[in-house]
Amino acid sequence: MTNFWHAFADMHAVSARGPFVLDRGEGVHVWDEAGTRYLDATAGLWFANVGFGRGEIADAARAQMAKLPAYSTFGDFSNRPVEDLADRVAAVAPVHGSKVFFTSGGSDSIDSVTKIARRFWQLNGQRNRTVFIKRQHAYHGMHTAGTSLAGIPANQEGFGELLGDVEQVPWDDAGALREAIHRIGAERVAAFFCEPVIGAGGVFPPPPGYLDSVREICRETGVLFIADEVITGFARCGDWFASSRFGLEPDLVTCAKGITSGYLPLGAVVAAPRVADVFFAEGAGLFRHGYTYSGHAAVAAAALANLDIIEREGLCDRALELEKELPEVLAPLLAHEQVDEIRSGTGVLAAVQLSAERIEADPSFPIQVVGACRANGVLTRALATGALQVSPSLVIDDAGLSELAEGLSAGLDASA
Ligand code: PLP
Repeated sequence: MTNFWHAFADMHAVSARGPFVLDRGEGVHVWDEAGTRYLDATAGLWFANVGFGRGEIADAARAQMAKLPAYSTFGDFSNRPVEDLADRVAAVAPVHGSKVFFTSGGSDSIDSVTKIARRFWQLNGQRNRTVFIKRQHAYHGMHTAGTSLAGIPANQEGFGELLGDVEQVPWDDAGALREAIHRIGAERVAAFFCEPVIGAGGVFPPPPGYLDSVREICRETGVLFIADEVITGFARCGDWFASSRFGLEPDLVTCAKGITSGYLPLGAVVAAPRVADVFFAEGAGLFRHGYTYSGHAAVAAAALANLDIIEREGLCDRALELEKELPEVLAPLLAHEQVDEIRSGTGVLAAVQLSAERIEADPSFPIQVVGACRANGVLTRALATGALQVSPSLVIDDAGLSELAEGLSAGLDASA
């Protein structure tokens, strides 16, 4: 063991077994240091939308690093790649005329958007609008704000109260959102956070009509609608943003992951004119928020190369095909008695929900299944509900889909 402290890890257990060290990737496959090949069912952590081994992204970053790797973007400082990237993201944003604020990742974007939302209401003279409404099962990253906005209880335990003024509603009930806003008082509610498809909380596609209804409720009550598209953005749901596909016109969008396909860390907040115009107006003053890497030149160059690939290879359209194919290849897994349910159907996102009975009898059961899948050549992981995550790269082909389904099936057989 080295001195590396892993993320989201029981380090005692990791130390006992030793780390699982990956060495390289190509397309939808990765290899460990021993040279064993695996089908990556999760696109890393939902990020490798264009797959691994894309030399042109590395070349773009390298060229920019040699020229000017990064510089402050505070105040009037800027660099050409970040200017171009902002325009490129704005051009595909769900709302015309949006502005783009860059961060270093999804959790940064969530922290930033909470401050943008509260500041928006202050600038509008509605200082009491401070309450955020989140959904059961929600995952919004692990910064202070995101931890407080979690709808996964285990992710909040042990940290005390972080961000105040957060209320939770059921994940699938638009009426409950309306009731919550009325109970709290619309004049106190700043924003509603909504993953178009709930991801890390267990992959819960939106029930029919849900997204339209909650969007309308926010419109009627003035509450800012924040679409957390850290997973669903950049082609995974069949469009540049899931919000565009579903006509949501969010006031604010958070994104990360697929914007670079994970080749370098980057996040962004996309603000529709309703919000951005207030900050850009004369008299709004200095917005005292930003990060060292809010506009890293080499990262922006990598992002531009990644967006070129998504566009050139038609990965939004490919995702729409995969959205149909993925449920079909996973359906036979329901025959395993250790599988309760398969959730899929919106975007290239699915969860193979393991048996509640088995998990109750042995809470480590999902980890065992994940290990058995790994032993059978497929890398997946257990989500909060005890489901296996299935969110492959958008470049997966028929052979890859078969390899995925067979590996999961073999893993389930081995854990019967
Ligand atoms: N929001 C959502 C919906 C996410 O799925 C994630 C990460 O998985 C985040 C925010 C946090 O992103 P990051 O891990 O890049 O900080």
